[in-house]
Amino acid sequence: TPPAPVTDAALTGLRSGFTGEVHVPGDPGYDEARTVFNSMIDRRPAVVAGCADEPDVARALRFARDHELEVAVRGGGHSVAGMALSEGGLVIDLRRMHGVAVDRDAMSARVGGGAVMSDLDRATQPFALATTGGRVSTTGVGGFTLGGGSGWMERAWGLASDNLLAAEVVTADGATVRASAEENPELFWALHGGGGNFGVVTSLTLRLHDLPALTMALLLFRPEKGPEVVRTYRDVMESAPDAAGGGCIYLTGPPEEWVPEALVGRLACAVLLTYAGPEAEARDVAAPLLALGPDAQVIDAVAYADLQCMLDDPPGMRNYWSAEYLRGLPDEAASAFCAGAETMPVPTGTQHVLFPMGGAVARGPADHPLPWRSSPWAVHPFGVWESAADDERAMRWVREVRAAVMPWASGDVYLNFIGREGQERVVAGYGEQAYERLSRVKARYDPGNVFHLNHNVKPAVA
Ligand code: FAD
Repeated sequence: TPPAPVTDAALTGLRSGFTGEVHVPGDPGYDEARTVFNSMIDRRPAVVAGCADEPDVARALRFARDHELEVAVRGGGHSVAGMALSEGGLVIDLRRMHGVAVDRDAMSARVGGGAVMSDLDRATQPFALATTGGRVSTTGVGGFTLGGGSGWMERAWGLASDNLLAAEVVTADGATVRASAEENPELFWALHGGGGNFGVVTSLTLRLHDLPALTMALLLFRPEKGPEVVRTYRDVMESAPDAAGGGCIYLTGPPEEWVPEALVGRLACAVLLTYAGPEAEARDVAAPLLALGPDAQVIDAVAYADLQCMLDDPPGMRNYWSAEYLRGLPDEAASAFCAGAETMPVPTGTQHVLFPMGGAVARGPADHPLPWRSSPWAVHPFGVWESAADDERAMRWVREVRAAVMPWASGDVYLNFIGREGQERVVAGYGEQAYERLSRVKARYDPGNVFHLNHNVKPAVA
Protein backbone atom coordinates (compact mmCIF):
# COMPACT_ATOMS: atom_id res chain seq x y z
CA THR A 1 0.00 0.00 0.00
CA PRO A 2 1.27 3.50 -0.81
CA PRO A 3 2.20 5.74 2.11
CA ALA A 4 -0.56 7.90 3.58
CA PRO A 5 -0.09 11.53 2.51
CA VAL A 6 0.94 14.02 5.18
CA THR A 7 -2.37 15.87 5.18
CA ASP A 8 -3.55 18.46 7.68
CA ALA A 9 -5.74 15.74 9.15
CA ALA A 10 -2.75 13.44 9.56
CA LEU A 11 -0.80 16.22 11.27
CA THR A 12 -3.72 16.92 13.59
CA GLY A 13 -3.60 13.24 14.49
CA LEU A 14 0.13 13.46 15.25
CA ARG A 15 -0.32 16.62 17.33
CA SER A 16 -3.16 15.26 19.45
CA GLY A 17 -1.63 13.67 22.49
CA PHE A 18 1.82 14.93 21.52
CA THR A 19 3.45 16.63 24.51
CA GLY A 20 6.13 18.52 22.57
CA GLU A 21 5.65 20.61 19.43
CA VAL A 22 5.32 19.66 15.78
CA HIS A 23 6.53 22.03 13.06
CA VAL A 24 5.89 21.89 9.33
CA PRO A 25 6.91 24.30 6.55
CA GLY A 26 5.19 27.64 7.00
CA ASP A 27 4.92 27.39 10.81
CA PRO A 28 6.50 30.26 12.74
CA GLY A 29 8.98 27.93 14.50
CA TYR A 30 9.86 25.89 11.41
CA ASP A 31 13.00 27.73 10.33
CA GLU A 32 14.52 27.66 13.80
CA ALA A 33 13.68 23.97 14.00
CA ARG A 34 15.60 23.20 10.80
CA THR A 35 18.68 25.27 11.62
CA VAL A 36 21.77 23.35 12.69
CA PHE A 37 25.23 24.45 13.78
CA ASN A 38 26.79 24.33 10.31
CA SER A 39 25.19 27.11 8.24
CA MET A 40 26.17 25.28 5.03
CA ILE A 41 23.31 22.85 5.74
CA ASP A 42 19.99 24.00 4.34
CA ARG A 43 17.46 21.16 4.42
CA ARG A 44 13.68 21.30 4.51
CA PRO A 45 12.16 18.41 6.44
CA ALA A 46 8.44 17.73 5.93
CA VAL A 47 7.91 17.45 9.69
CA VAL A 48 9.99 18.39 12.72
CA ALA A 49 8.68 16.52 15.74
CA GLY A 50 10.01 18.35 18.80
CA CYS A 51 9.63 15.46 21.24
CA ALA A 52 9.22 16.09 24.97
CA ASP A 53 9.23 12.49 26.19
CA GLU A 54 9.58 8.87 25.13
CA PRO A 55 5.94 8.44 24.05
CA ASP A 56 6.41 11.43 21.70
CA VAL A 57 9.45 9.71 20.19
CA ALA A 58 7.54 6.46 19.67
CA ARG A 59 4.61 8.37 18.18
CA ALA A 60 6.84 10.29 15.78
CA LEU A 61 8.53 7.07 14.67
CA ARG A 62 5.13 5.48 13.96
CA PHE A 63 4.04 8.53 12.01
CA ALA A 64 7.24 8.39 9.92
CA ARG A 65 6.66 4.69 9.21
CA ASP A 66 3.01 5.17 8.21
CA HIS A 67 3.90 8.04 5.89
CA GLU A 68 7.16 6.54 4.65
CA LEU A 69 9.15 9.54 5.77
CA GLU A 70 12.92 9.29 6.16
CA VAL A 71 13.87 9.63 9.85
CA ALA A 72 16.54 11.94 11.20
CA VAL A 73 17.40 12.26 14.89
CA ARG A 74 18.58 15.58 16.24
CA GLY A 75 20.55 15.99 19.45
CA GLY A 76 22.83 19.02 19.59
CA GLY A 77 22.80 19.48 15.79
CA HIS A 78 26.62 19.50 15.59
CA SER A 79 27.17 16.84 12.94
CA VAL A 80 29.22 18.73 10.37
CA ALA A 81 27.44 16.90 7.54
CA GLY A 82 24.04 17.90 8.95
CA MET A 83 22.96 14.36 9.76
CA ALA A 84 20.40 15.71 12.22
CA LEU A 85 18.17 16.80 9.34
CA SER A 86 16.37 15.00 6.52
CA GLU A 87 15.35 16.67 3.28
CA GLY A 88 11.62 16.00 3.00
CA GLY A 89 11.58 13.56 5.93
CA LEU A 90 10.76 13.65 9.63
CA VAL A 91 13.13 14.97 12.27
CA ILE A 92 12.95 13.63 15.80
CA ASP A 93 14.18 16.75 17.58
CA LEU A 94 15.26 15.84 21.11
CA ARG A 95 16.20 19.32 22.31
CA ARG A 96 13.28 19.50 24.75
CA MET A 97 14.61 16.37 26.46
CA HIS A 98 17.58 18.07 28.05
CA GLY A 99 17.12 17.42 31.77
CA VAL A 100 20.09 16.34 33.91
CA ALA A 101 19.71 14.59 37.27
CA VAL A 102 22.89 14.24 39.33
CA ASP A 103 23.13 11.37 41.82
CA ARG A 104 25.93 12.45 44.17
CA ASP A 105 26.04 9.14 46.02
CA ALA A 106 26.15 7.02 42.89
CA MET A 107 28.59 9.49 41.24
CA SER A 108 26.49 9.52 38.10
CA ALA A 109 24.22 11.76 36.06
CA ARG A 110 21.17 10.80 34.05
CA VAL A 111 21.12 13.03 31.00
CA GLY A 112 18.30 13.59 28.52
CA GLY A 113 19.06 12.51 24.94
CA GLY A 114 18.79 16.11 23.72
CA ALA A 115 20.93 17.79 26.39
CA VAL A 116 24.00 19.75 25.35
CA MET A 117 27.33 19.77 27.18
CA SER A 118 26.57 22.95 29.11
CA ASP A 119 23.38 21.38 30.53
CA LEU A 120 25.52 18.57 31.92
CA ASP A 121 28.52 20.63 33.03
CA ARG A 122 26.42 23.28 34.78
CA ALA A 123 24.47 20.55 36.62
CA THR A 124 27.54 18.69 37.90
CA GLN A 125 29.64 21.77 38.72
CA PRO A 126 27.98 22.56 42.09
CA PHE A 127 29.00 19.08 43.27
CA ALA A 128 32.64 19.52 42.08
CA LEU A 129 31.94 16.55 39.82
CA ALA A 130 32.42 16.24 36.08
CA THR A 131 32.91 13.78 33.26
CA THR A 132 34.68 13.82 29.91
CA GLY A 133 32.77 16.21 27.68
CA GLY A 134 33.17 17.72 24.22
CA ARG A 135 35.43 20.73 23.96
CA VAL A 136 32.59 23.17 23.39
CA SER A 137 29.43 23.68 25.41
CA THR A 138 26.88 23.44 22.61
CA THR A 139 27.60 19.90 21.40
CA GLY A 140 24.89 17.32 22.10
CA VAL A 141 25.81 14.91 24.90
CA GLY A 142 23.98 12.24 22.88
CA GLY A 143 25.73 12.43 19.52
CA PHE A 144 29.05 13.14 21.22
CA THR A 145 28.98 10.21 23.65
CA LEU A 146 27.40 7.69 21.29
CA GLY A 147 30.13 8.46 18.74
CA GLY A 148 32.89 7.86 21.32
CA GLY A 149 33.41 11.24 22.98
CA SER A 150 36.85 12.84 22.97
CA GLY A 151 37.42 15.77 25.35
CA TRP A 152 39.86 17.68 27.55
CA MET A 153 39.65 15.17 30.41
CA GLU A 154 39.96 11.99 28.35
CA ARG A 155 43.55 11.20 29.34
CA ALA A 156 42.40 11.16 32.98
CA TRP A 157 38.91 9.68 32.75
CA GLY A 158 38.76 8.00 29.35
CA LEU A 159 36.41 8.78 26.50
CA ALA A 160 32.88 9.91 27.28
CA SER A 161 31.64 6.50 26.15
CA ASP A 162 33.97 4.80 28.64
CA ASN A 163 31.84 6.55 31.25
CA LEU A 164 28.51 5.42 29.84
CA LEU A 165 26.77 3.30 32.48
CA ALA A 166 23.33 2.84 30.93
CA ALA A 167 21.07 4.16 28.21
CA GLU A 168 17.40 4.12 27.32
CA VAL A 169 16.71 3.60 23.67
CA VAL A 170 13.49 3.83 21.63
CA THR A 171 14.01 1.37 18.82
CA ALA A 172 12.65 1.52 15.29
CA ASP A 173 9.47 -0.36 16.28
CA GLY A 174 8.70 2.16 19.03
CA ALA A 175 9.73 -0.11 21.93
CA THR A 176 11.80 1.25 24.82
CA VAL A 177 14.87 -0.83 25.60
CA ARG A 178 17.31 -0.35 28.45
CA ALA A 179 20.96 -1.05 27.80
CA SER A 180 23.62 -1.57 30.44
CA ALA A 181 26.28 -4.12 31.30
CA GLU A 182 23.48 -6.34 32.64
CA GLU A 183 20.61 -5.57 30.26
CA ASN A 184 21.00 -6.00 26.52
CA PRO A 185 24.80 -6.01 26.79
CA GLU A 186 25.43 -6.25 23.03
CA LEU A 187 23.38 -3.12 22.45
CA PHE A 188 25.21 -1.48 25.35
CA TRP A 189 28.55 -2.36 23.77
CA ALA A 190 27.39 -0.96 20.42
CA LEU A 191 26.40 2.36 21.98
CA HIS A 192 30.07 2.96 22.89
CA GLY A 193 30.86 4.46 19.51
CA GLY A 194 28.21 3.09 17.18
CA GLY A 195 26.39 6.45 17.16
CA GLY A 196 22.68 6.74 16.51
CA ASN A 197 22.49 3.52 14.50
CA PHE A 198 20.43 1.49 16.94
CA GLY A 199 17.62 3.80 17.95
CA VAL A 200 16.76 7.07 19.61
CA VAL A 201 18.67 7.33 22.87
CA THR A 202 16.33 9.19 25.17
CA SER A 203 18.60 9.15 28.20
CA LEU A 204 22.21 8.33 29.06
CA THR A 205 23.60 7.63 32.51
CA LEU A 206 27.21 8.77 32.81
CA ARG A 207 29.83 8.15 35.48
CA LEU A 208 31.05 11.31 37.24
CA HIS A 209 34.45 12.01 38.73
CA ASP A 210 35.65 14.25 41.54
CA LEU A 211 37.28 17.38 40.23
CA PRO A 212 38.39 19.39 43.26
CA ALA A 213 40.84 21.57 41.28
CA LEU A 214 41.31 22.39 37.61
CA THR A 215 43.98 24.63 36.09
CA MET A 216 44.17 26.01 32.61
CA ALA A 217 47.36 27.27 31.00
CA LEU A 218 46.82 29.03 27.69
CA LEU A 219 50.06 30.06 26.01
CA LEU A 220 50.18 32.04 22.79
CA PHE A 221 53.18 32.16 20.48
CA ARG A 222 54.00 33.93 17.22
CA PRO A 223 53.59 31.45 14.36
CA GLU A 224 57.35 31.53 13.54
CA LYS A 225 57.90 29.74 16.82
CA GLY A 226 55.36 27.06 15.87
CA PRO A 227 57.75 24.21 14.94
CA GLU A 228 59.73 24.56 18.17
CA VAL A 229 56.52 24.86 20.19
CA VAL A 230 54.99 21.76 18.59
CA ARG A 231 58.10 19.66 19.15
CA THR A 232 58.32 20.79 22.77
CA TYR A 233 54.61 20.22 23.24
CA ARG A 234 55.01 16.67 21.90
CA ASP A 235 57.83 15.94 24.37
CA VAL A 236 55.85 17.44 27.25
CA MET A 237 52.71 15.46 26.53
CA GLU A 238 54.49 12.19 25.84
CA SER A 239 55.68 12.14 29.43
CA ALA A 240 52.86 14.12 31.08
CA PRO A 241 50.68 12.65 33.81
CA ASP A 242 47.16 11.59 32.85
CA ALA A 243 45.81 14.68 34.64
CA ALA A 244 47.18 16.77 31.76
CA GLY A 245 45.10 17.26 28.63
CA GLY A 246 44.57 19.95 26.04
CA GLY A 247 45.92 20.57 22.57
CA CYS A 248 48.21 22.61 20.39
CA ILE A 249 46.11 24.82 18.14
CA TYR A 250 46.89 27.29 15.37
CA LEU A 251 44.15 29.88 15.39
CA THR A 252 43.37 33.51 14.69
CA GLY A 253 44.52 35.56 17.69
CA PRO A 254 41.36 36.67 19.53
CA PRO A 255 40.71 40.35 20.30
CA GLU A 256 41.20 39.97 24.02
CA GLU A 257 42.93 42.17 26.52
CA TRP A 258 45.74 39.71 27.29
CA VAL A 259 46.58 39.12 23.61
CA PRO A 260 49.29 41.43 22.19
CA GLU A 261 48.06 43.60 19.34
CA ALA A 262 50.51 41.99 16.91
CA LEU A 263 48.65 38.67 17.27
CA VAL A 264 45.07 39.94 17.22
CA GLY A 265 43.42 38.92 13.97
CA ARG A 266 46.61 37.14 12.89
CA LEU A 267 47.81 33.56 12.91
CA ALA A 268 48.99 32.41 16.34
CA CYS A 269 50.14 29.10 17.74
CA ALA A 270 48.38 28.32 21.01
CA VAL A 271 49.05 25.63 23.57
CA LEU A 272 46.21 24.83 25.88
CA LEU A 273 47.16 22.72 28.86
CA THR A 274 44.28 21.56 31.01
CA TYR A 275 45.31 20.06 34.31
CA ALA A 276 43.12 18.27 36.83
CA GLY A 277 44.99 19.64 39.82
CA PRO A 278 46.47 22.80 41.34
CA GLU A 279 48.31 25.55 39.47
CA ALA A 280 51.76 24.69 40.83
CA GLU A 281 51.57 21.19 39.33
CA ALA A 282 50.28 22.54 36.03
CA ARG A 283 53.21 24.97 35.90
CA ASP A 284 55.62 22.08 36.45
CA VAL A 285 54.15 20.19 33.51
CA ALA A 286 54.17 23.32 31.32
CA ALA A 287 57.71 24.38 32.34
CA PRO A 288 59.47 23.46 29.05
CA LEU A 289 56.80 25.41 27.12
CA LEU A 290 57.03 28.40 29.45
CA ALA A 291 60.78 28.35 28.92
CA LEU A 292 60.17 29.05 25.22
CA GLY A 293 58.85 32.49 26.20
CA PRO A 294 55.21 32.69 25.16
CA ASP A 295 54.12 36.04 23.69
CA ALA A 296 51.10 35.92 25.97
CA GLN A 297 49.85 33.59 28.65
CA VAL A 298 47.02 32.97 31.09
CA ILE A 299 47.54 30.41 33.82
CA ASP A 300 44.80 30.15 36.36
CA ALA A 301 42.29 27.99 38.17
CA VAL A 302 39.18 27.57 36.06
CA ALA A 303 35.73 26.12 36.60
CA TYR A 304 35.22 23.10 34.36
CA ALA A 305 32.00 24.46 32.86
CA ASP A 306 33.84 27.69 31.96
CA LEU A 307 36.73 25.82 30.38
CA GLN A 308 34.23 23.85 28.35
CA CYS A 309 32.84 26.97 26.66
CA MET A 310 36.13 28.74 26.10
CA LEU A 311 36.37 27.66 22.45
CA ASP A 312 32.67 28.07 21.62
CA ASP A 313 32.23 29.37 18.07
CA PRO A 314 29.45 31.76 17.25
CA PRO A 315 26.57 29.92 15.56
CA GLY A 316 25.75 30.57 11.93
CA MET A 317 29.25 29.92 10.55
CA ARG A 318 30.19 27.62 7.69
CA ASN A 319 31.97 24.44 8.80
CA TYR A 320 34.02 21.70 7.22
CA TRP A 321 36.42 19.47 9.10
CA SER A 322 38.25 16.21 9.00
CA ALA A 323 40.88 14.37 11.03
CA GLU A 324 43.77 12.01 10.72
CA TYR A 325 45.14 9.94 13.59
CA LEU A 326 48.90 9.49 13.65
CA ARG A 327 50.96 6.53 14.83
CA GLY A 328 53.63 8.92 16.12
CA LEU A 329 54.84 12.48 15.82
CA PRO A 330 58.47 12.50 14.64
CA ASP A 331 59.99 15.90 13.81
CA GLU A 332 59.01 15.57 10.12
CA ALA A 333 55.37 14.98 11.07
CA ALA A 334 55.48 17.96 13.43
CA SER A 335 56.88 20.08 10.57
CA ALA A 336 54.15 18.85 8.22
CA PHE A 337 51.55 19.83 10.81
CA CYS A 338 53.07 23.30 11.19
CA ALA A 339 53.33 23.78 7.42
CA GLY A 340 49.54 23.33 7.30
CA ALA A 341 49.19 26.54 9.29
CA GLU A 342 50.88 28.57 6.55
CA THR A 343 47.90 28.18 4.23
CA MET A 344 45.22 28.26 6.93
CA PRO A 345 42.53 30.84 6.14
CA VAL A 346 43.07 33.73 8.58
CA PRO A 347 41.34 35.63 10.06
CA THR A 348 38.54 33.09 10.45
CA GLY A 349 37.25 30.80 13.20
CA THR A 350 39.32 28.00 11.69
CA GLN A 351 41.46 25.96 14.06
CA HIS A 352 44.32 23.68 13.09
CA VAL A 353 44.47 21.26 15.97
CA LEU A 354 46.85 18.66 17.34
CA PHE A 355 45.36 16.56 20.13
CA PRO A 356 47.37 14.23 22.36
CA MET A 357 45.71 10.91 23.13
CA GLY A 358 47.41 8.44 25.48
CA GLY A 359 46.63 8.02 29.18
CA ALA A 360 43.20 6.54 29.88
CA VAL A 361 42.27 6.81 26.18
CA ALA A 362 44.98 4.34 25.22
CA ARG A 363 44.45 2.10 28.23
CA GLY A 364 40.67 2.00 27.67
CA PRO A 365 38.52 -1.10 28.05
CA ALA A 366 39.74 -3.94 25.86
CA ASP A 367 36.29 -4.67 24.47
CA HIS A 368 35.32 -1.39 22.85
CA PRO A 369 34.18 -0.75 19.26
CA LEU A 370 36.67 2.07 18.57
CA PRO A 371 40.14 1.05 17.42
CA TRP A 372 41.66 4.52 17.23
CA ARG A 373 42.30 4.86 20.92
CA SER A 374 45.82 3.47 20.59
CA SER A 375 46.91 6.20 18.13
CA PRO A 376 48.90 8.70 20.19
CA TRP A 377 48.11 11.87 18.18
CA ALA A 378 45.20 13.32 16.26
CA VAL A 379 45.44 16.09 13.67
CA HIS A 380 42.09 17.81 13.31
CA PRO A 381 41.83 20.60 10.72
CA PHE A 382 38.65 22.39 11.77
CA GLY A 383 37.49 24.83 9.10
CA VAL A 384 35.11 27.56 10.30
CA TRP A 385 34.43 30.61 8.12
CA GLU A 386 31.77 33.12 7.31
CA SER A 387 31.28 33.65 3.61
CA ALA A 388 30.20 31.19 0.92
CA ALA A 389 32.80 32.82 -1.33
CA ASP A 390 35.48 31.16 0.84
CA ASP A 391 33.96 27.65 0.69
CA GLU A 392 36.35 26.23 -1.83
CA ARG A 393 39.49 27.65 -0.25
CA ALA A 394 38.51 26.56 3.27
CA MET A 395 37.54 23.03 2.24
CA ARG A 396 40.63 22.62 0.11
CA TRP A 397 42.77 23.62 3.08
CA VAL A 398 41.19 20.88 5.26
CA ARG A 399 41.84 18.25 2.59
CA GLU A 400 45.42 19.44 2.06
CA VAL A 401 46.21 19.21 5.78
CA ARG A 402 44.98 15.62 5.82
CA ALA A 403 47.04 14.75 2.77
CA ALA A 404 50.17 16.37 4.26
CA VAL A 405 50.17 14.21 7.41
CA MET A 406 49.17 11.02 5.59
CA PRO A 407 52.70 9.51 5.67
CA TRP A 408 52.33 9.19 9.46
CA ALA A 409 48.62 8.23 9.51
CA SER A 410 47.70 5.16 11.53
CA GLY A 411 44.62 4.57 9.38
CA ASP A 412 42.40 5.01 12.41
CA VAL A 413 39.30 7.16 11.97
CA TYR A 414 37.27 8.90 14.64
CA LEU A 415 33.88 9.42 13.01
CA ASN A 416 32.77 12.29 15.26
CA PHE A 417 35.64 14.33 13.81
CA ILE A 418 34.66 13.89 10.17
CA GLY A 419 31.73 14.47 7.82
CA ARG A 420 30.62 12.15 5.06
CA GLU A 421 33.85 10.66 3.70
CA GLY A 422 32.54 7.38 2.31
CA GLN A 423 31.69 3.94 3.67
CA GLU A 424 35.33 2.84 3.75
CA ARG A 425 36.06 5.48 6.36
CA VAL A 426 32.99 4.33 8.35
CA VAL A 427 34.29 0.76 8.43
CA ALA A 428 37.76 2.07 9.36
CA GLY A 429 36.08 3.94 12.23
CA TYR A 430 35.51 0.56 13.88
CA GLY A 431 37.88 -1.84 12.17
CA GLU A 432 36.39 -4.76 10.26
CA GLN A 433 35.79 -7.04 13.21
CA ALA A 434 33.98 -4.49 15.35
CA TYR A 435 32.07 -3.26 12.29
CA GLU A 436 30.75 -6.77 11.68
CA ARG A 437 29.71 -7.11 15.30
CA LEU A 438 27.97 -3.72 15.12
CA SER A 439 26.20 -4.89 11.93
CA ARG A 440 24.79 -7.85 13.82
CA VAL A 441 23.53 -5.59 16.62
CA LYS A 442 22.08 -3.30 13.96
CA ALA A 443 20.26 -6.25 12.33
CA ARG A 444 18.70 -7.07 15.67
CA TYR A 445 17.54 -3.58 16.67
CA ASP A 446 17.11 -1.79 13.33
CA PRO A 447 16.90 -4.40 10.55
CA GLY A 448 15.22 -1.94 8.15
CA ASN A 449 17.95 0.69 8.66
CA VAL A 450 15.41 3.32 9.70
CA PHE A 451 18.25 5.13 11.48
CA HIS A 452 20.60 5.72 8.56
CA LEU A 453 21.28 9.45 8.79
CA ASN A 454 24.48 8.84 10.70
CA HIS A 455 27.83 7.19 10.05
CA ASN A 456 25.85 4.24 8.91
CA VAL A 457 26.39 0.67 10.01
CA LYS A 458 24.50 -1.53 7.56
CA PRO A 459 22.43 -4.31 9.11
CA ALA A 460 24.06 -7.73 8.73
CA VAL A 461 22.27 -9.99 6.31
CA ALA A 462 21.30 -13.23 8.06
P1 FAD B 1 23.60 15.94 15.90
O1 FAD B 1 23.94 16.52 14.56
O2 FAD B 1 22.30 16.30 16.49
O3 FAD B 1 23.76 14.39 15.90
C1 FAD B 1 24.89 13.75 15.37
C2 FAD B 1 24.53 12.29 15.05
O4 FAD B 1 24.18 11.62 16.26
C3 FAD B 1 23.35 12.16 14.12
O5 FAD B 1 23.51 11.01 13.33
C4 FAD B 1 22.18 12.01 15.08
O6 FAD B 1 21.13 11.33 14.49
C5 FAD B 1 22.81 11.20 16.21
N1 FAD B 1 22.23 11.49 17.53
C6 FAD B 1 22.38 12.61 18.27
N2 FAD B 1 21.74 12.47 19.45
C7 FAD B 1 21.18 11.25 19.44
C8 FAD B 1 20.39 10.52 20.37
N3 FAD B 1 20.09 11.04 21.56
N4 FAD B 1 19.99 9.29 20.02
C9 FAD B 1 20.33 8.74 18.83
N5 FAD B 1 21.06 9.38 17.92
C10 FAD B 1 21.49 10.62 18.22
N6 FAD B 1 33.54 15.65 19.10
C11 FAD B 1 34.39 15.15 20.01
O7 FAD B 1 34.45 13.94 20.22
N7 FAD B 1 35.18 15.99 20.74
C12 FAD B 1 35.16 17.32 20.60
O8 FAD B 1 35.88 18.02 21.27
C13 FAD B 1 34.26 17.87 19.66
N8 FAD B 1 34.17 19.22 19.48
C14 FAD B 1 33.26 19.72 18.60
C15 FAD B 1 33.16 21.10 18.46
C16 FAD B 1 32.24 21.65 17.58
C17 FAD B 1 32.15 23.15 17.46
C18 FAD B 1 31.42 20.80 16.81
C19 FAD B 1 30.43 21.39 15.87
C20 FAD B 1 31.52 19.43 16.95
C21 FAD B 1 32.44 18.87 17.82
N9 FAD B 1 32.60 17.49 17.97
C22 FAD B 1 33.46 16.98 18.91
C23 FAD B 1 31.89 16.56 17.11
C24 FAD B 1 30.62 16.08 17.76
O9 FAD B 1 30.90 15.25 18.86
C25 FAD B 1 29.82 15.27 16.76
O10 FAD B 1 29.50 16.06 15.66
C26 FAD B 1 28.55 14.71 17.39
O11 FAD B 1 28.01 13.73 16.55
C27 FAD B 1 27.56 15.81 17.62
O12 FAD B 1 26.45 15.37 18.32
P2 FAD B 1 25.15 16.28 18.36
O13 FAD B 1 24.14 15.56 19.14
O14 FAD B 1 25.53 17.67 18.74
O15 FAD B 1 24.81 16.40 16.81
